[in-house]
Parts: sequence; C-alpha cells; structure tokens
Amino acid sequence: MICPCCDSPRMQSVSIDNTVYRQCPQCRFLFQPFVTTARRESVAKHYESVDPHRQVAESKTAFFRHVLQHLDRFHAAEKRILDVGCGYGYFLEEAADHGWLPFGVDISSEAVKQSRGKFGDAGVFLGKLAGSGFESDRFDAVTFWDVLVFSQSPFTELAEGLRILKKGGFVGIRVRNVLFQKALYNLFAPFSSAAHRFGLKKPYVFHPNCFSPKSMHFLLKRVGFAGIYIENSPLTTGDPYGHSRAGSLTRLAKRLTDSFAKRMLQLSRGKWIWGPSLLIWAQKP
Ligand SMILES: [Zn+2]
Repeated sequence: MICPCCDSPRMQSVSIDNTVYRQCPQCRFLFQPFVTTARRESVAKHYESVDPHRQVAESKTAFFRHVLQHLDRFHAAEKRILDVGCGYGYFLEEAADHGWLPFGVDISSEAVKQSRGKFGDAGVFLGKLAGSGFESDRFDAVTFWDVLVFSQSPFTELAEGLRILKKGGFVGIRVRNVLFQKALYNLFAPFSSAAHRFGLKKPYVFHPNCFSPKSMHFLLKRVGFAGIYIENSPLTTGDPYGHSRAGSLTRLAKRLTDSFAKRMLQLSRGKWIWGPSLLIWAQKP
C-alpha cells in the first residue's frame, strides 16, 4: 500500500480504540483503510443534518472571521468563493458580508435546500465536488473546512479544486492535526475508564483521514499547488458537541491548548505546528 500523500511505499498498521488504521512513517498521514463510501457519506451527513449545526457554526465564528481576513488581503473587486461541504451556508453568509459572491457544494439534500434558499438555486450544487461540473478558472477561492477528513480521495477533490480556481486563486483547508490527536490519545489512554465514569468523553478525534502538516504539504504539492502555508487553526469556542458535562473544563482545556500551541510555534520559529487543528493555504500557480 502506497501513502496517498507522499507516495511512501511503507505503510504501518496501527490500532486505535480497537479500530485498524494505516499510518505512513514518513509523513504521518493516518487513515482507515476499511471505510465504505456509504459509511463515509453517512458520517458526513450526520455533521450536516443531525449535528447541532447552528451551535457548531456559532462556535466557529472566530475561525470564519480569521480566514475571511486572510482572504480579504488578496482580493479586491468582484470575487467568487466556493465552499465545499457548505452545509447550511453559515460560512458563506459571513463571506457574502465580506463582499464575496457565494457558491456551495454539499452531499446533504436538506442542507442544500436551506443553502439554496439563502443563495439561489444556481449557486449551490447537491453532490460531490467532482460531479458539480463548474467551469475551469472560475473561482478566486475554494474552501474545504473539515471535509477532506471524510473524503475517499482527497487528491481527487483537491485536483478538482485546482482546476476550477483562477490562476493565483486560493485554496483554504481545515483538518484535525494527527500529531496532536495521537499525542492526546497516548496521554489519555491509561485514564480512559476513569474518565468514562466521570462522564467525560474522549478528548481526541480520529476521522477516516487524519493529516499532519507534512502530509498536507506533500499532498498539495503533488496536486500542483504552490505557496503552501500551514498554521494552527483558531479553535472553536465553547463546547458545541457537549463533549463534557463540565463545559467550563472544556473551555479551560481549550485555552491551555491554544496557548501551548502558540508557545511551541514561537519557540520553534514556526516549525512546530502542534495545535489540535490545522489551517492550510495554497495557491494555484
Ligand atoms: Zn506519507
């Protein structure tokens, strides 16, 4: 089996919470090899339909503002943005407030219905990006917030993103950082049964695809992107998924994690990107 990010031929088997994963020893990309397409889509749909989506969107307000500030630096006049996995269109609403013409793609019919009500039928496609048929060189920005983690082929999704971007256009990606999640898992494992008794859920998350900064860098380069820039993503605020009965404990843990990640980045002069989630930017050359 070859690593889909860096082409390394040596993938290792890893077991996490009794689930079998494969991990690349070179770039640390970790993925579940036995997830069916139906399973991936049911998980992704859960996020759009069953999830407390308004609370989750509200918890991402700081993140949305951060990325729009970044994008505002590079574009001026008429500008089009496509949000892949747009859900109910909360990010696109913020983007529209920043002067962007909003477009979306999502696999959840309910979410697409709601988004079409906000942005019009023509701008929101029901299905996968690969089937959306947008013309080449159309968008100034294409965003993948927390969606590539479920994709059967992140390479194909990103290649399609590259095709429909204008020259110089930006791709923005948010994923969990496997380096942080794995460290948290190792730390938490000896106390998991005690934590369960106190009603604390597992603090780490492993999706079907788990990326490290290095794996994202390799993958984007292979697809053909340039100017790759990776940073710690701003965290969500509060406890929208109800991970803990003690919400204030979650908020404190988040603040500590955030300052730890910032300090590590500072000490290593930008090399150690150890936060829980990654924000990645790249450009179409
Ligand atoms: Zn690899």
